Amino acid sequence: MKIIDIIKGGNPRLSFEVFPPKTDASFEAVMSATAEIASLSPSYMSVTYGAGGGTSRYTAEIAEKIQNMGVTPLAHLSCISSTKETVHSLLCDLRARGIENILALRGDIPKEGKVPGEYRYASELTEEIRRFGGFCIGGACYPEGHPESATGEADIDALCIKVQAGCEFLTTQMFFDNNILYNFLYRLMRRGVEVPVVAGIMPVTSAAQIKRITSISGNTLPQRFLRLVDRYGDNPAAMKQAGIAYATEQVIDLYANGINAVHIYSMNKPDVAAAIQRNVSEIIRPL
Ligand code: FAD
Repeated sequence: MKIIDIIKGGNPRLSFEVFPPKTDASFEAVMSATAEIASLSPSYMSVTYGAGGGTSRYTAEIAEKIQNMGVTPLAHLSCISSTKETVHSLLCDLRARGIENILALRGDIPKEGKVPGEYRYASELTEEIRRFGGFCIGGACYPEGHPESATGEADIDALCIKVQAGCEFLTTQMFFDNNILYNFLYRLMRRGVEVPVVAGIMPVTSAAQIKRITSISGNTLPQRFLRLVDRYGDNPAAMKQAGIAYATEQVIDLYANGINAVHIYSMNKPDVAAAIQRNVSEIIRPL
């Protein structure tokens, strides 16, 4: 099923994410976590894509397995480190496996800076997938602006190009203050961006995760959130409980304010996915 058809109705949707193993040795562990998350029957499940090695090789395979488990998969695909030829063969592979949804991404520019140079932006990949045909295409967006963008408006200019290229829905980078998303949606509306936006929520379940998050995405962390980390960061079980509760509160507030599609960055953690789903089980029950 196409994700646009899943999220465009009025019912609340909850989706989860898994990432592929970095080595063959951890494939079974990832598949077992994936199967547990799929057994929660989420609206769809996304599978991230790494620019090289095991992670890129496994994305299509895991997405196909998710489909065989009865859940709609969304395969991520990044382009900055790829050639047109590689992308074409990946699209053929995804099509052959019956995958219908792709999140088209640029990917982060590698630290050593060496790339084939055949793609600069996700919009170029989006355009290519659209021409290839048959896929529902999503893209990434950044309520706090992409770290490389000079201004928020320049970021939205780029987003408009991506949508014009064929992006049918957007998934947000994580954010920890819902007002940041609401302001962003208002700015998108003012610029005439009308595709559905799926809100990406990251349940932070360990103090170590926070350092990684802020170094990668430059997210604003509200005082209320930082208090949790100060108080529970040294107590893993308490931090996990507090992180799930904080994310749940964000999710409920989003649904209450009419954001129907929420994507949980569940990071191969079935217990975290299950806890959030349990916490909103009545809220997402179809009418
Ligand atoms: P783009 O949309 O190309 O934007 C990159 C930068 O270029 C932005 O500053 C943008 O404003 C600017 N820009 C874009 N188009 C133009 C233009 N035409 N002219 C001028 N400027 C332009 N990474 C992975 O490697 N694998 C994943 O699976 C993955 N999944 C992700 C899922 C989500 C929901 C999100 C939010 C991010 C994900 N990422 C993933 C990270 C992503 O690859 C990085 O954030 C990357 O730096 C930007 O990717 P993009 O697709 O947003 O790029």
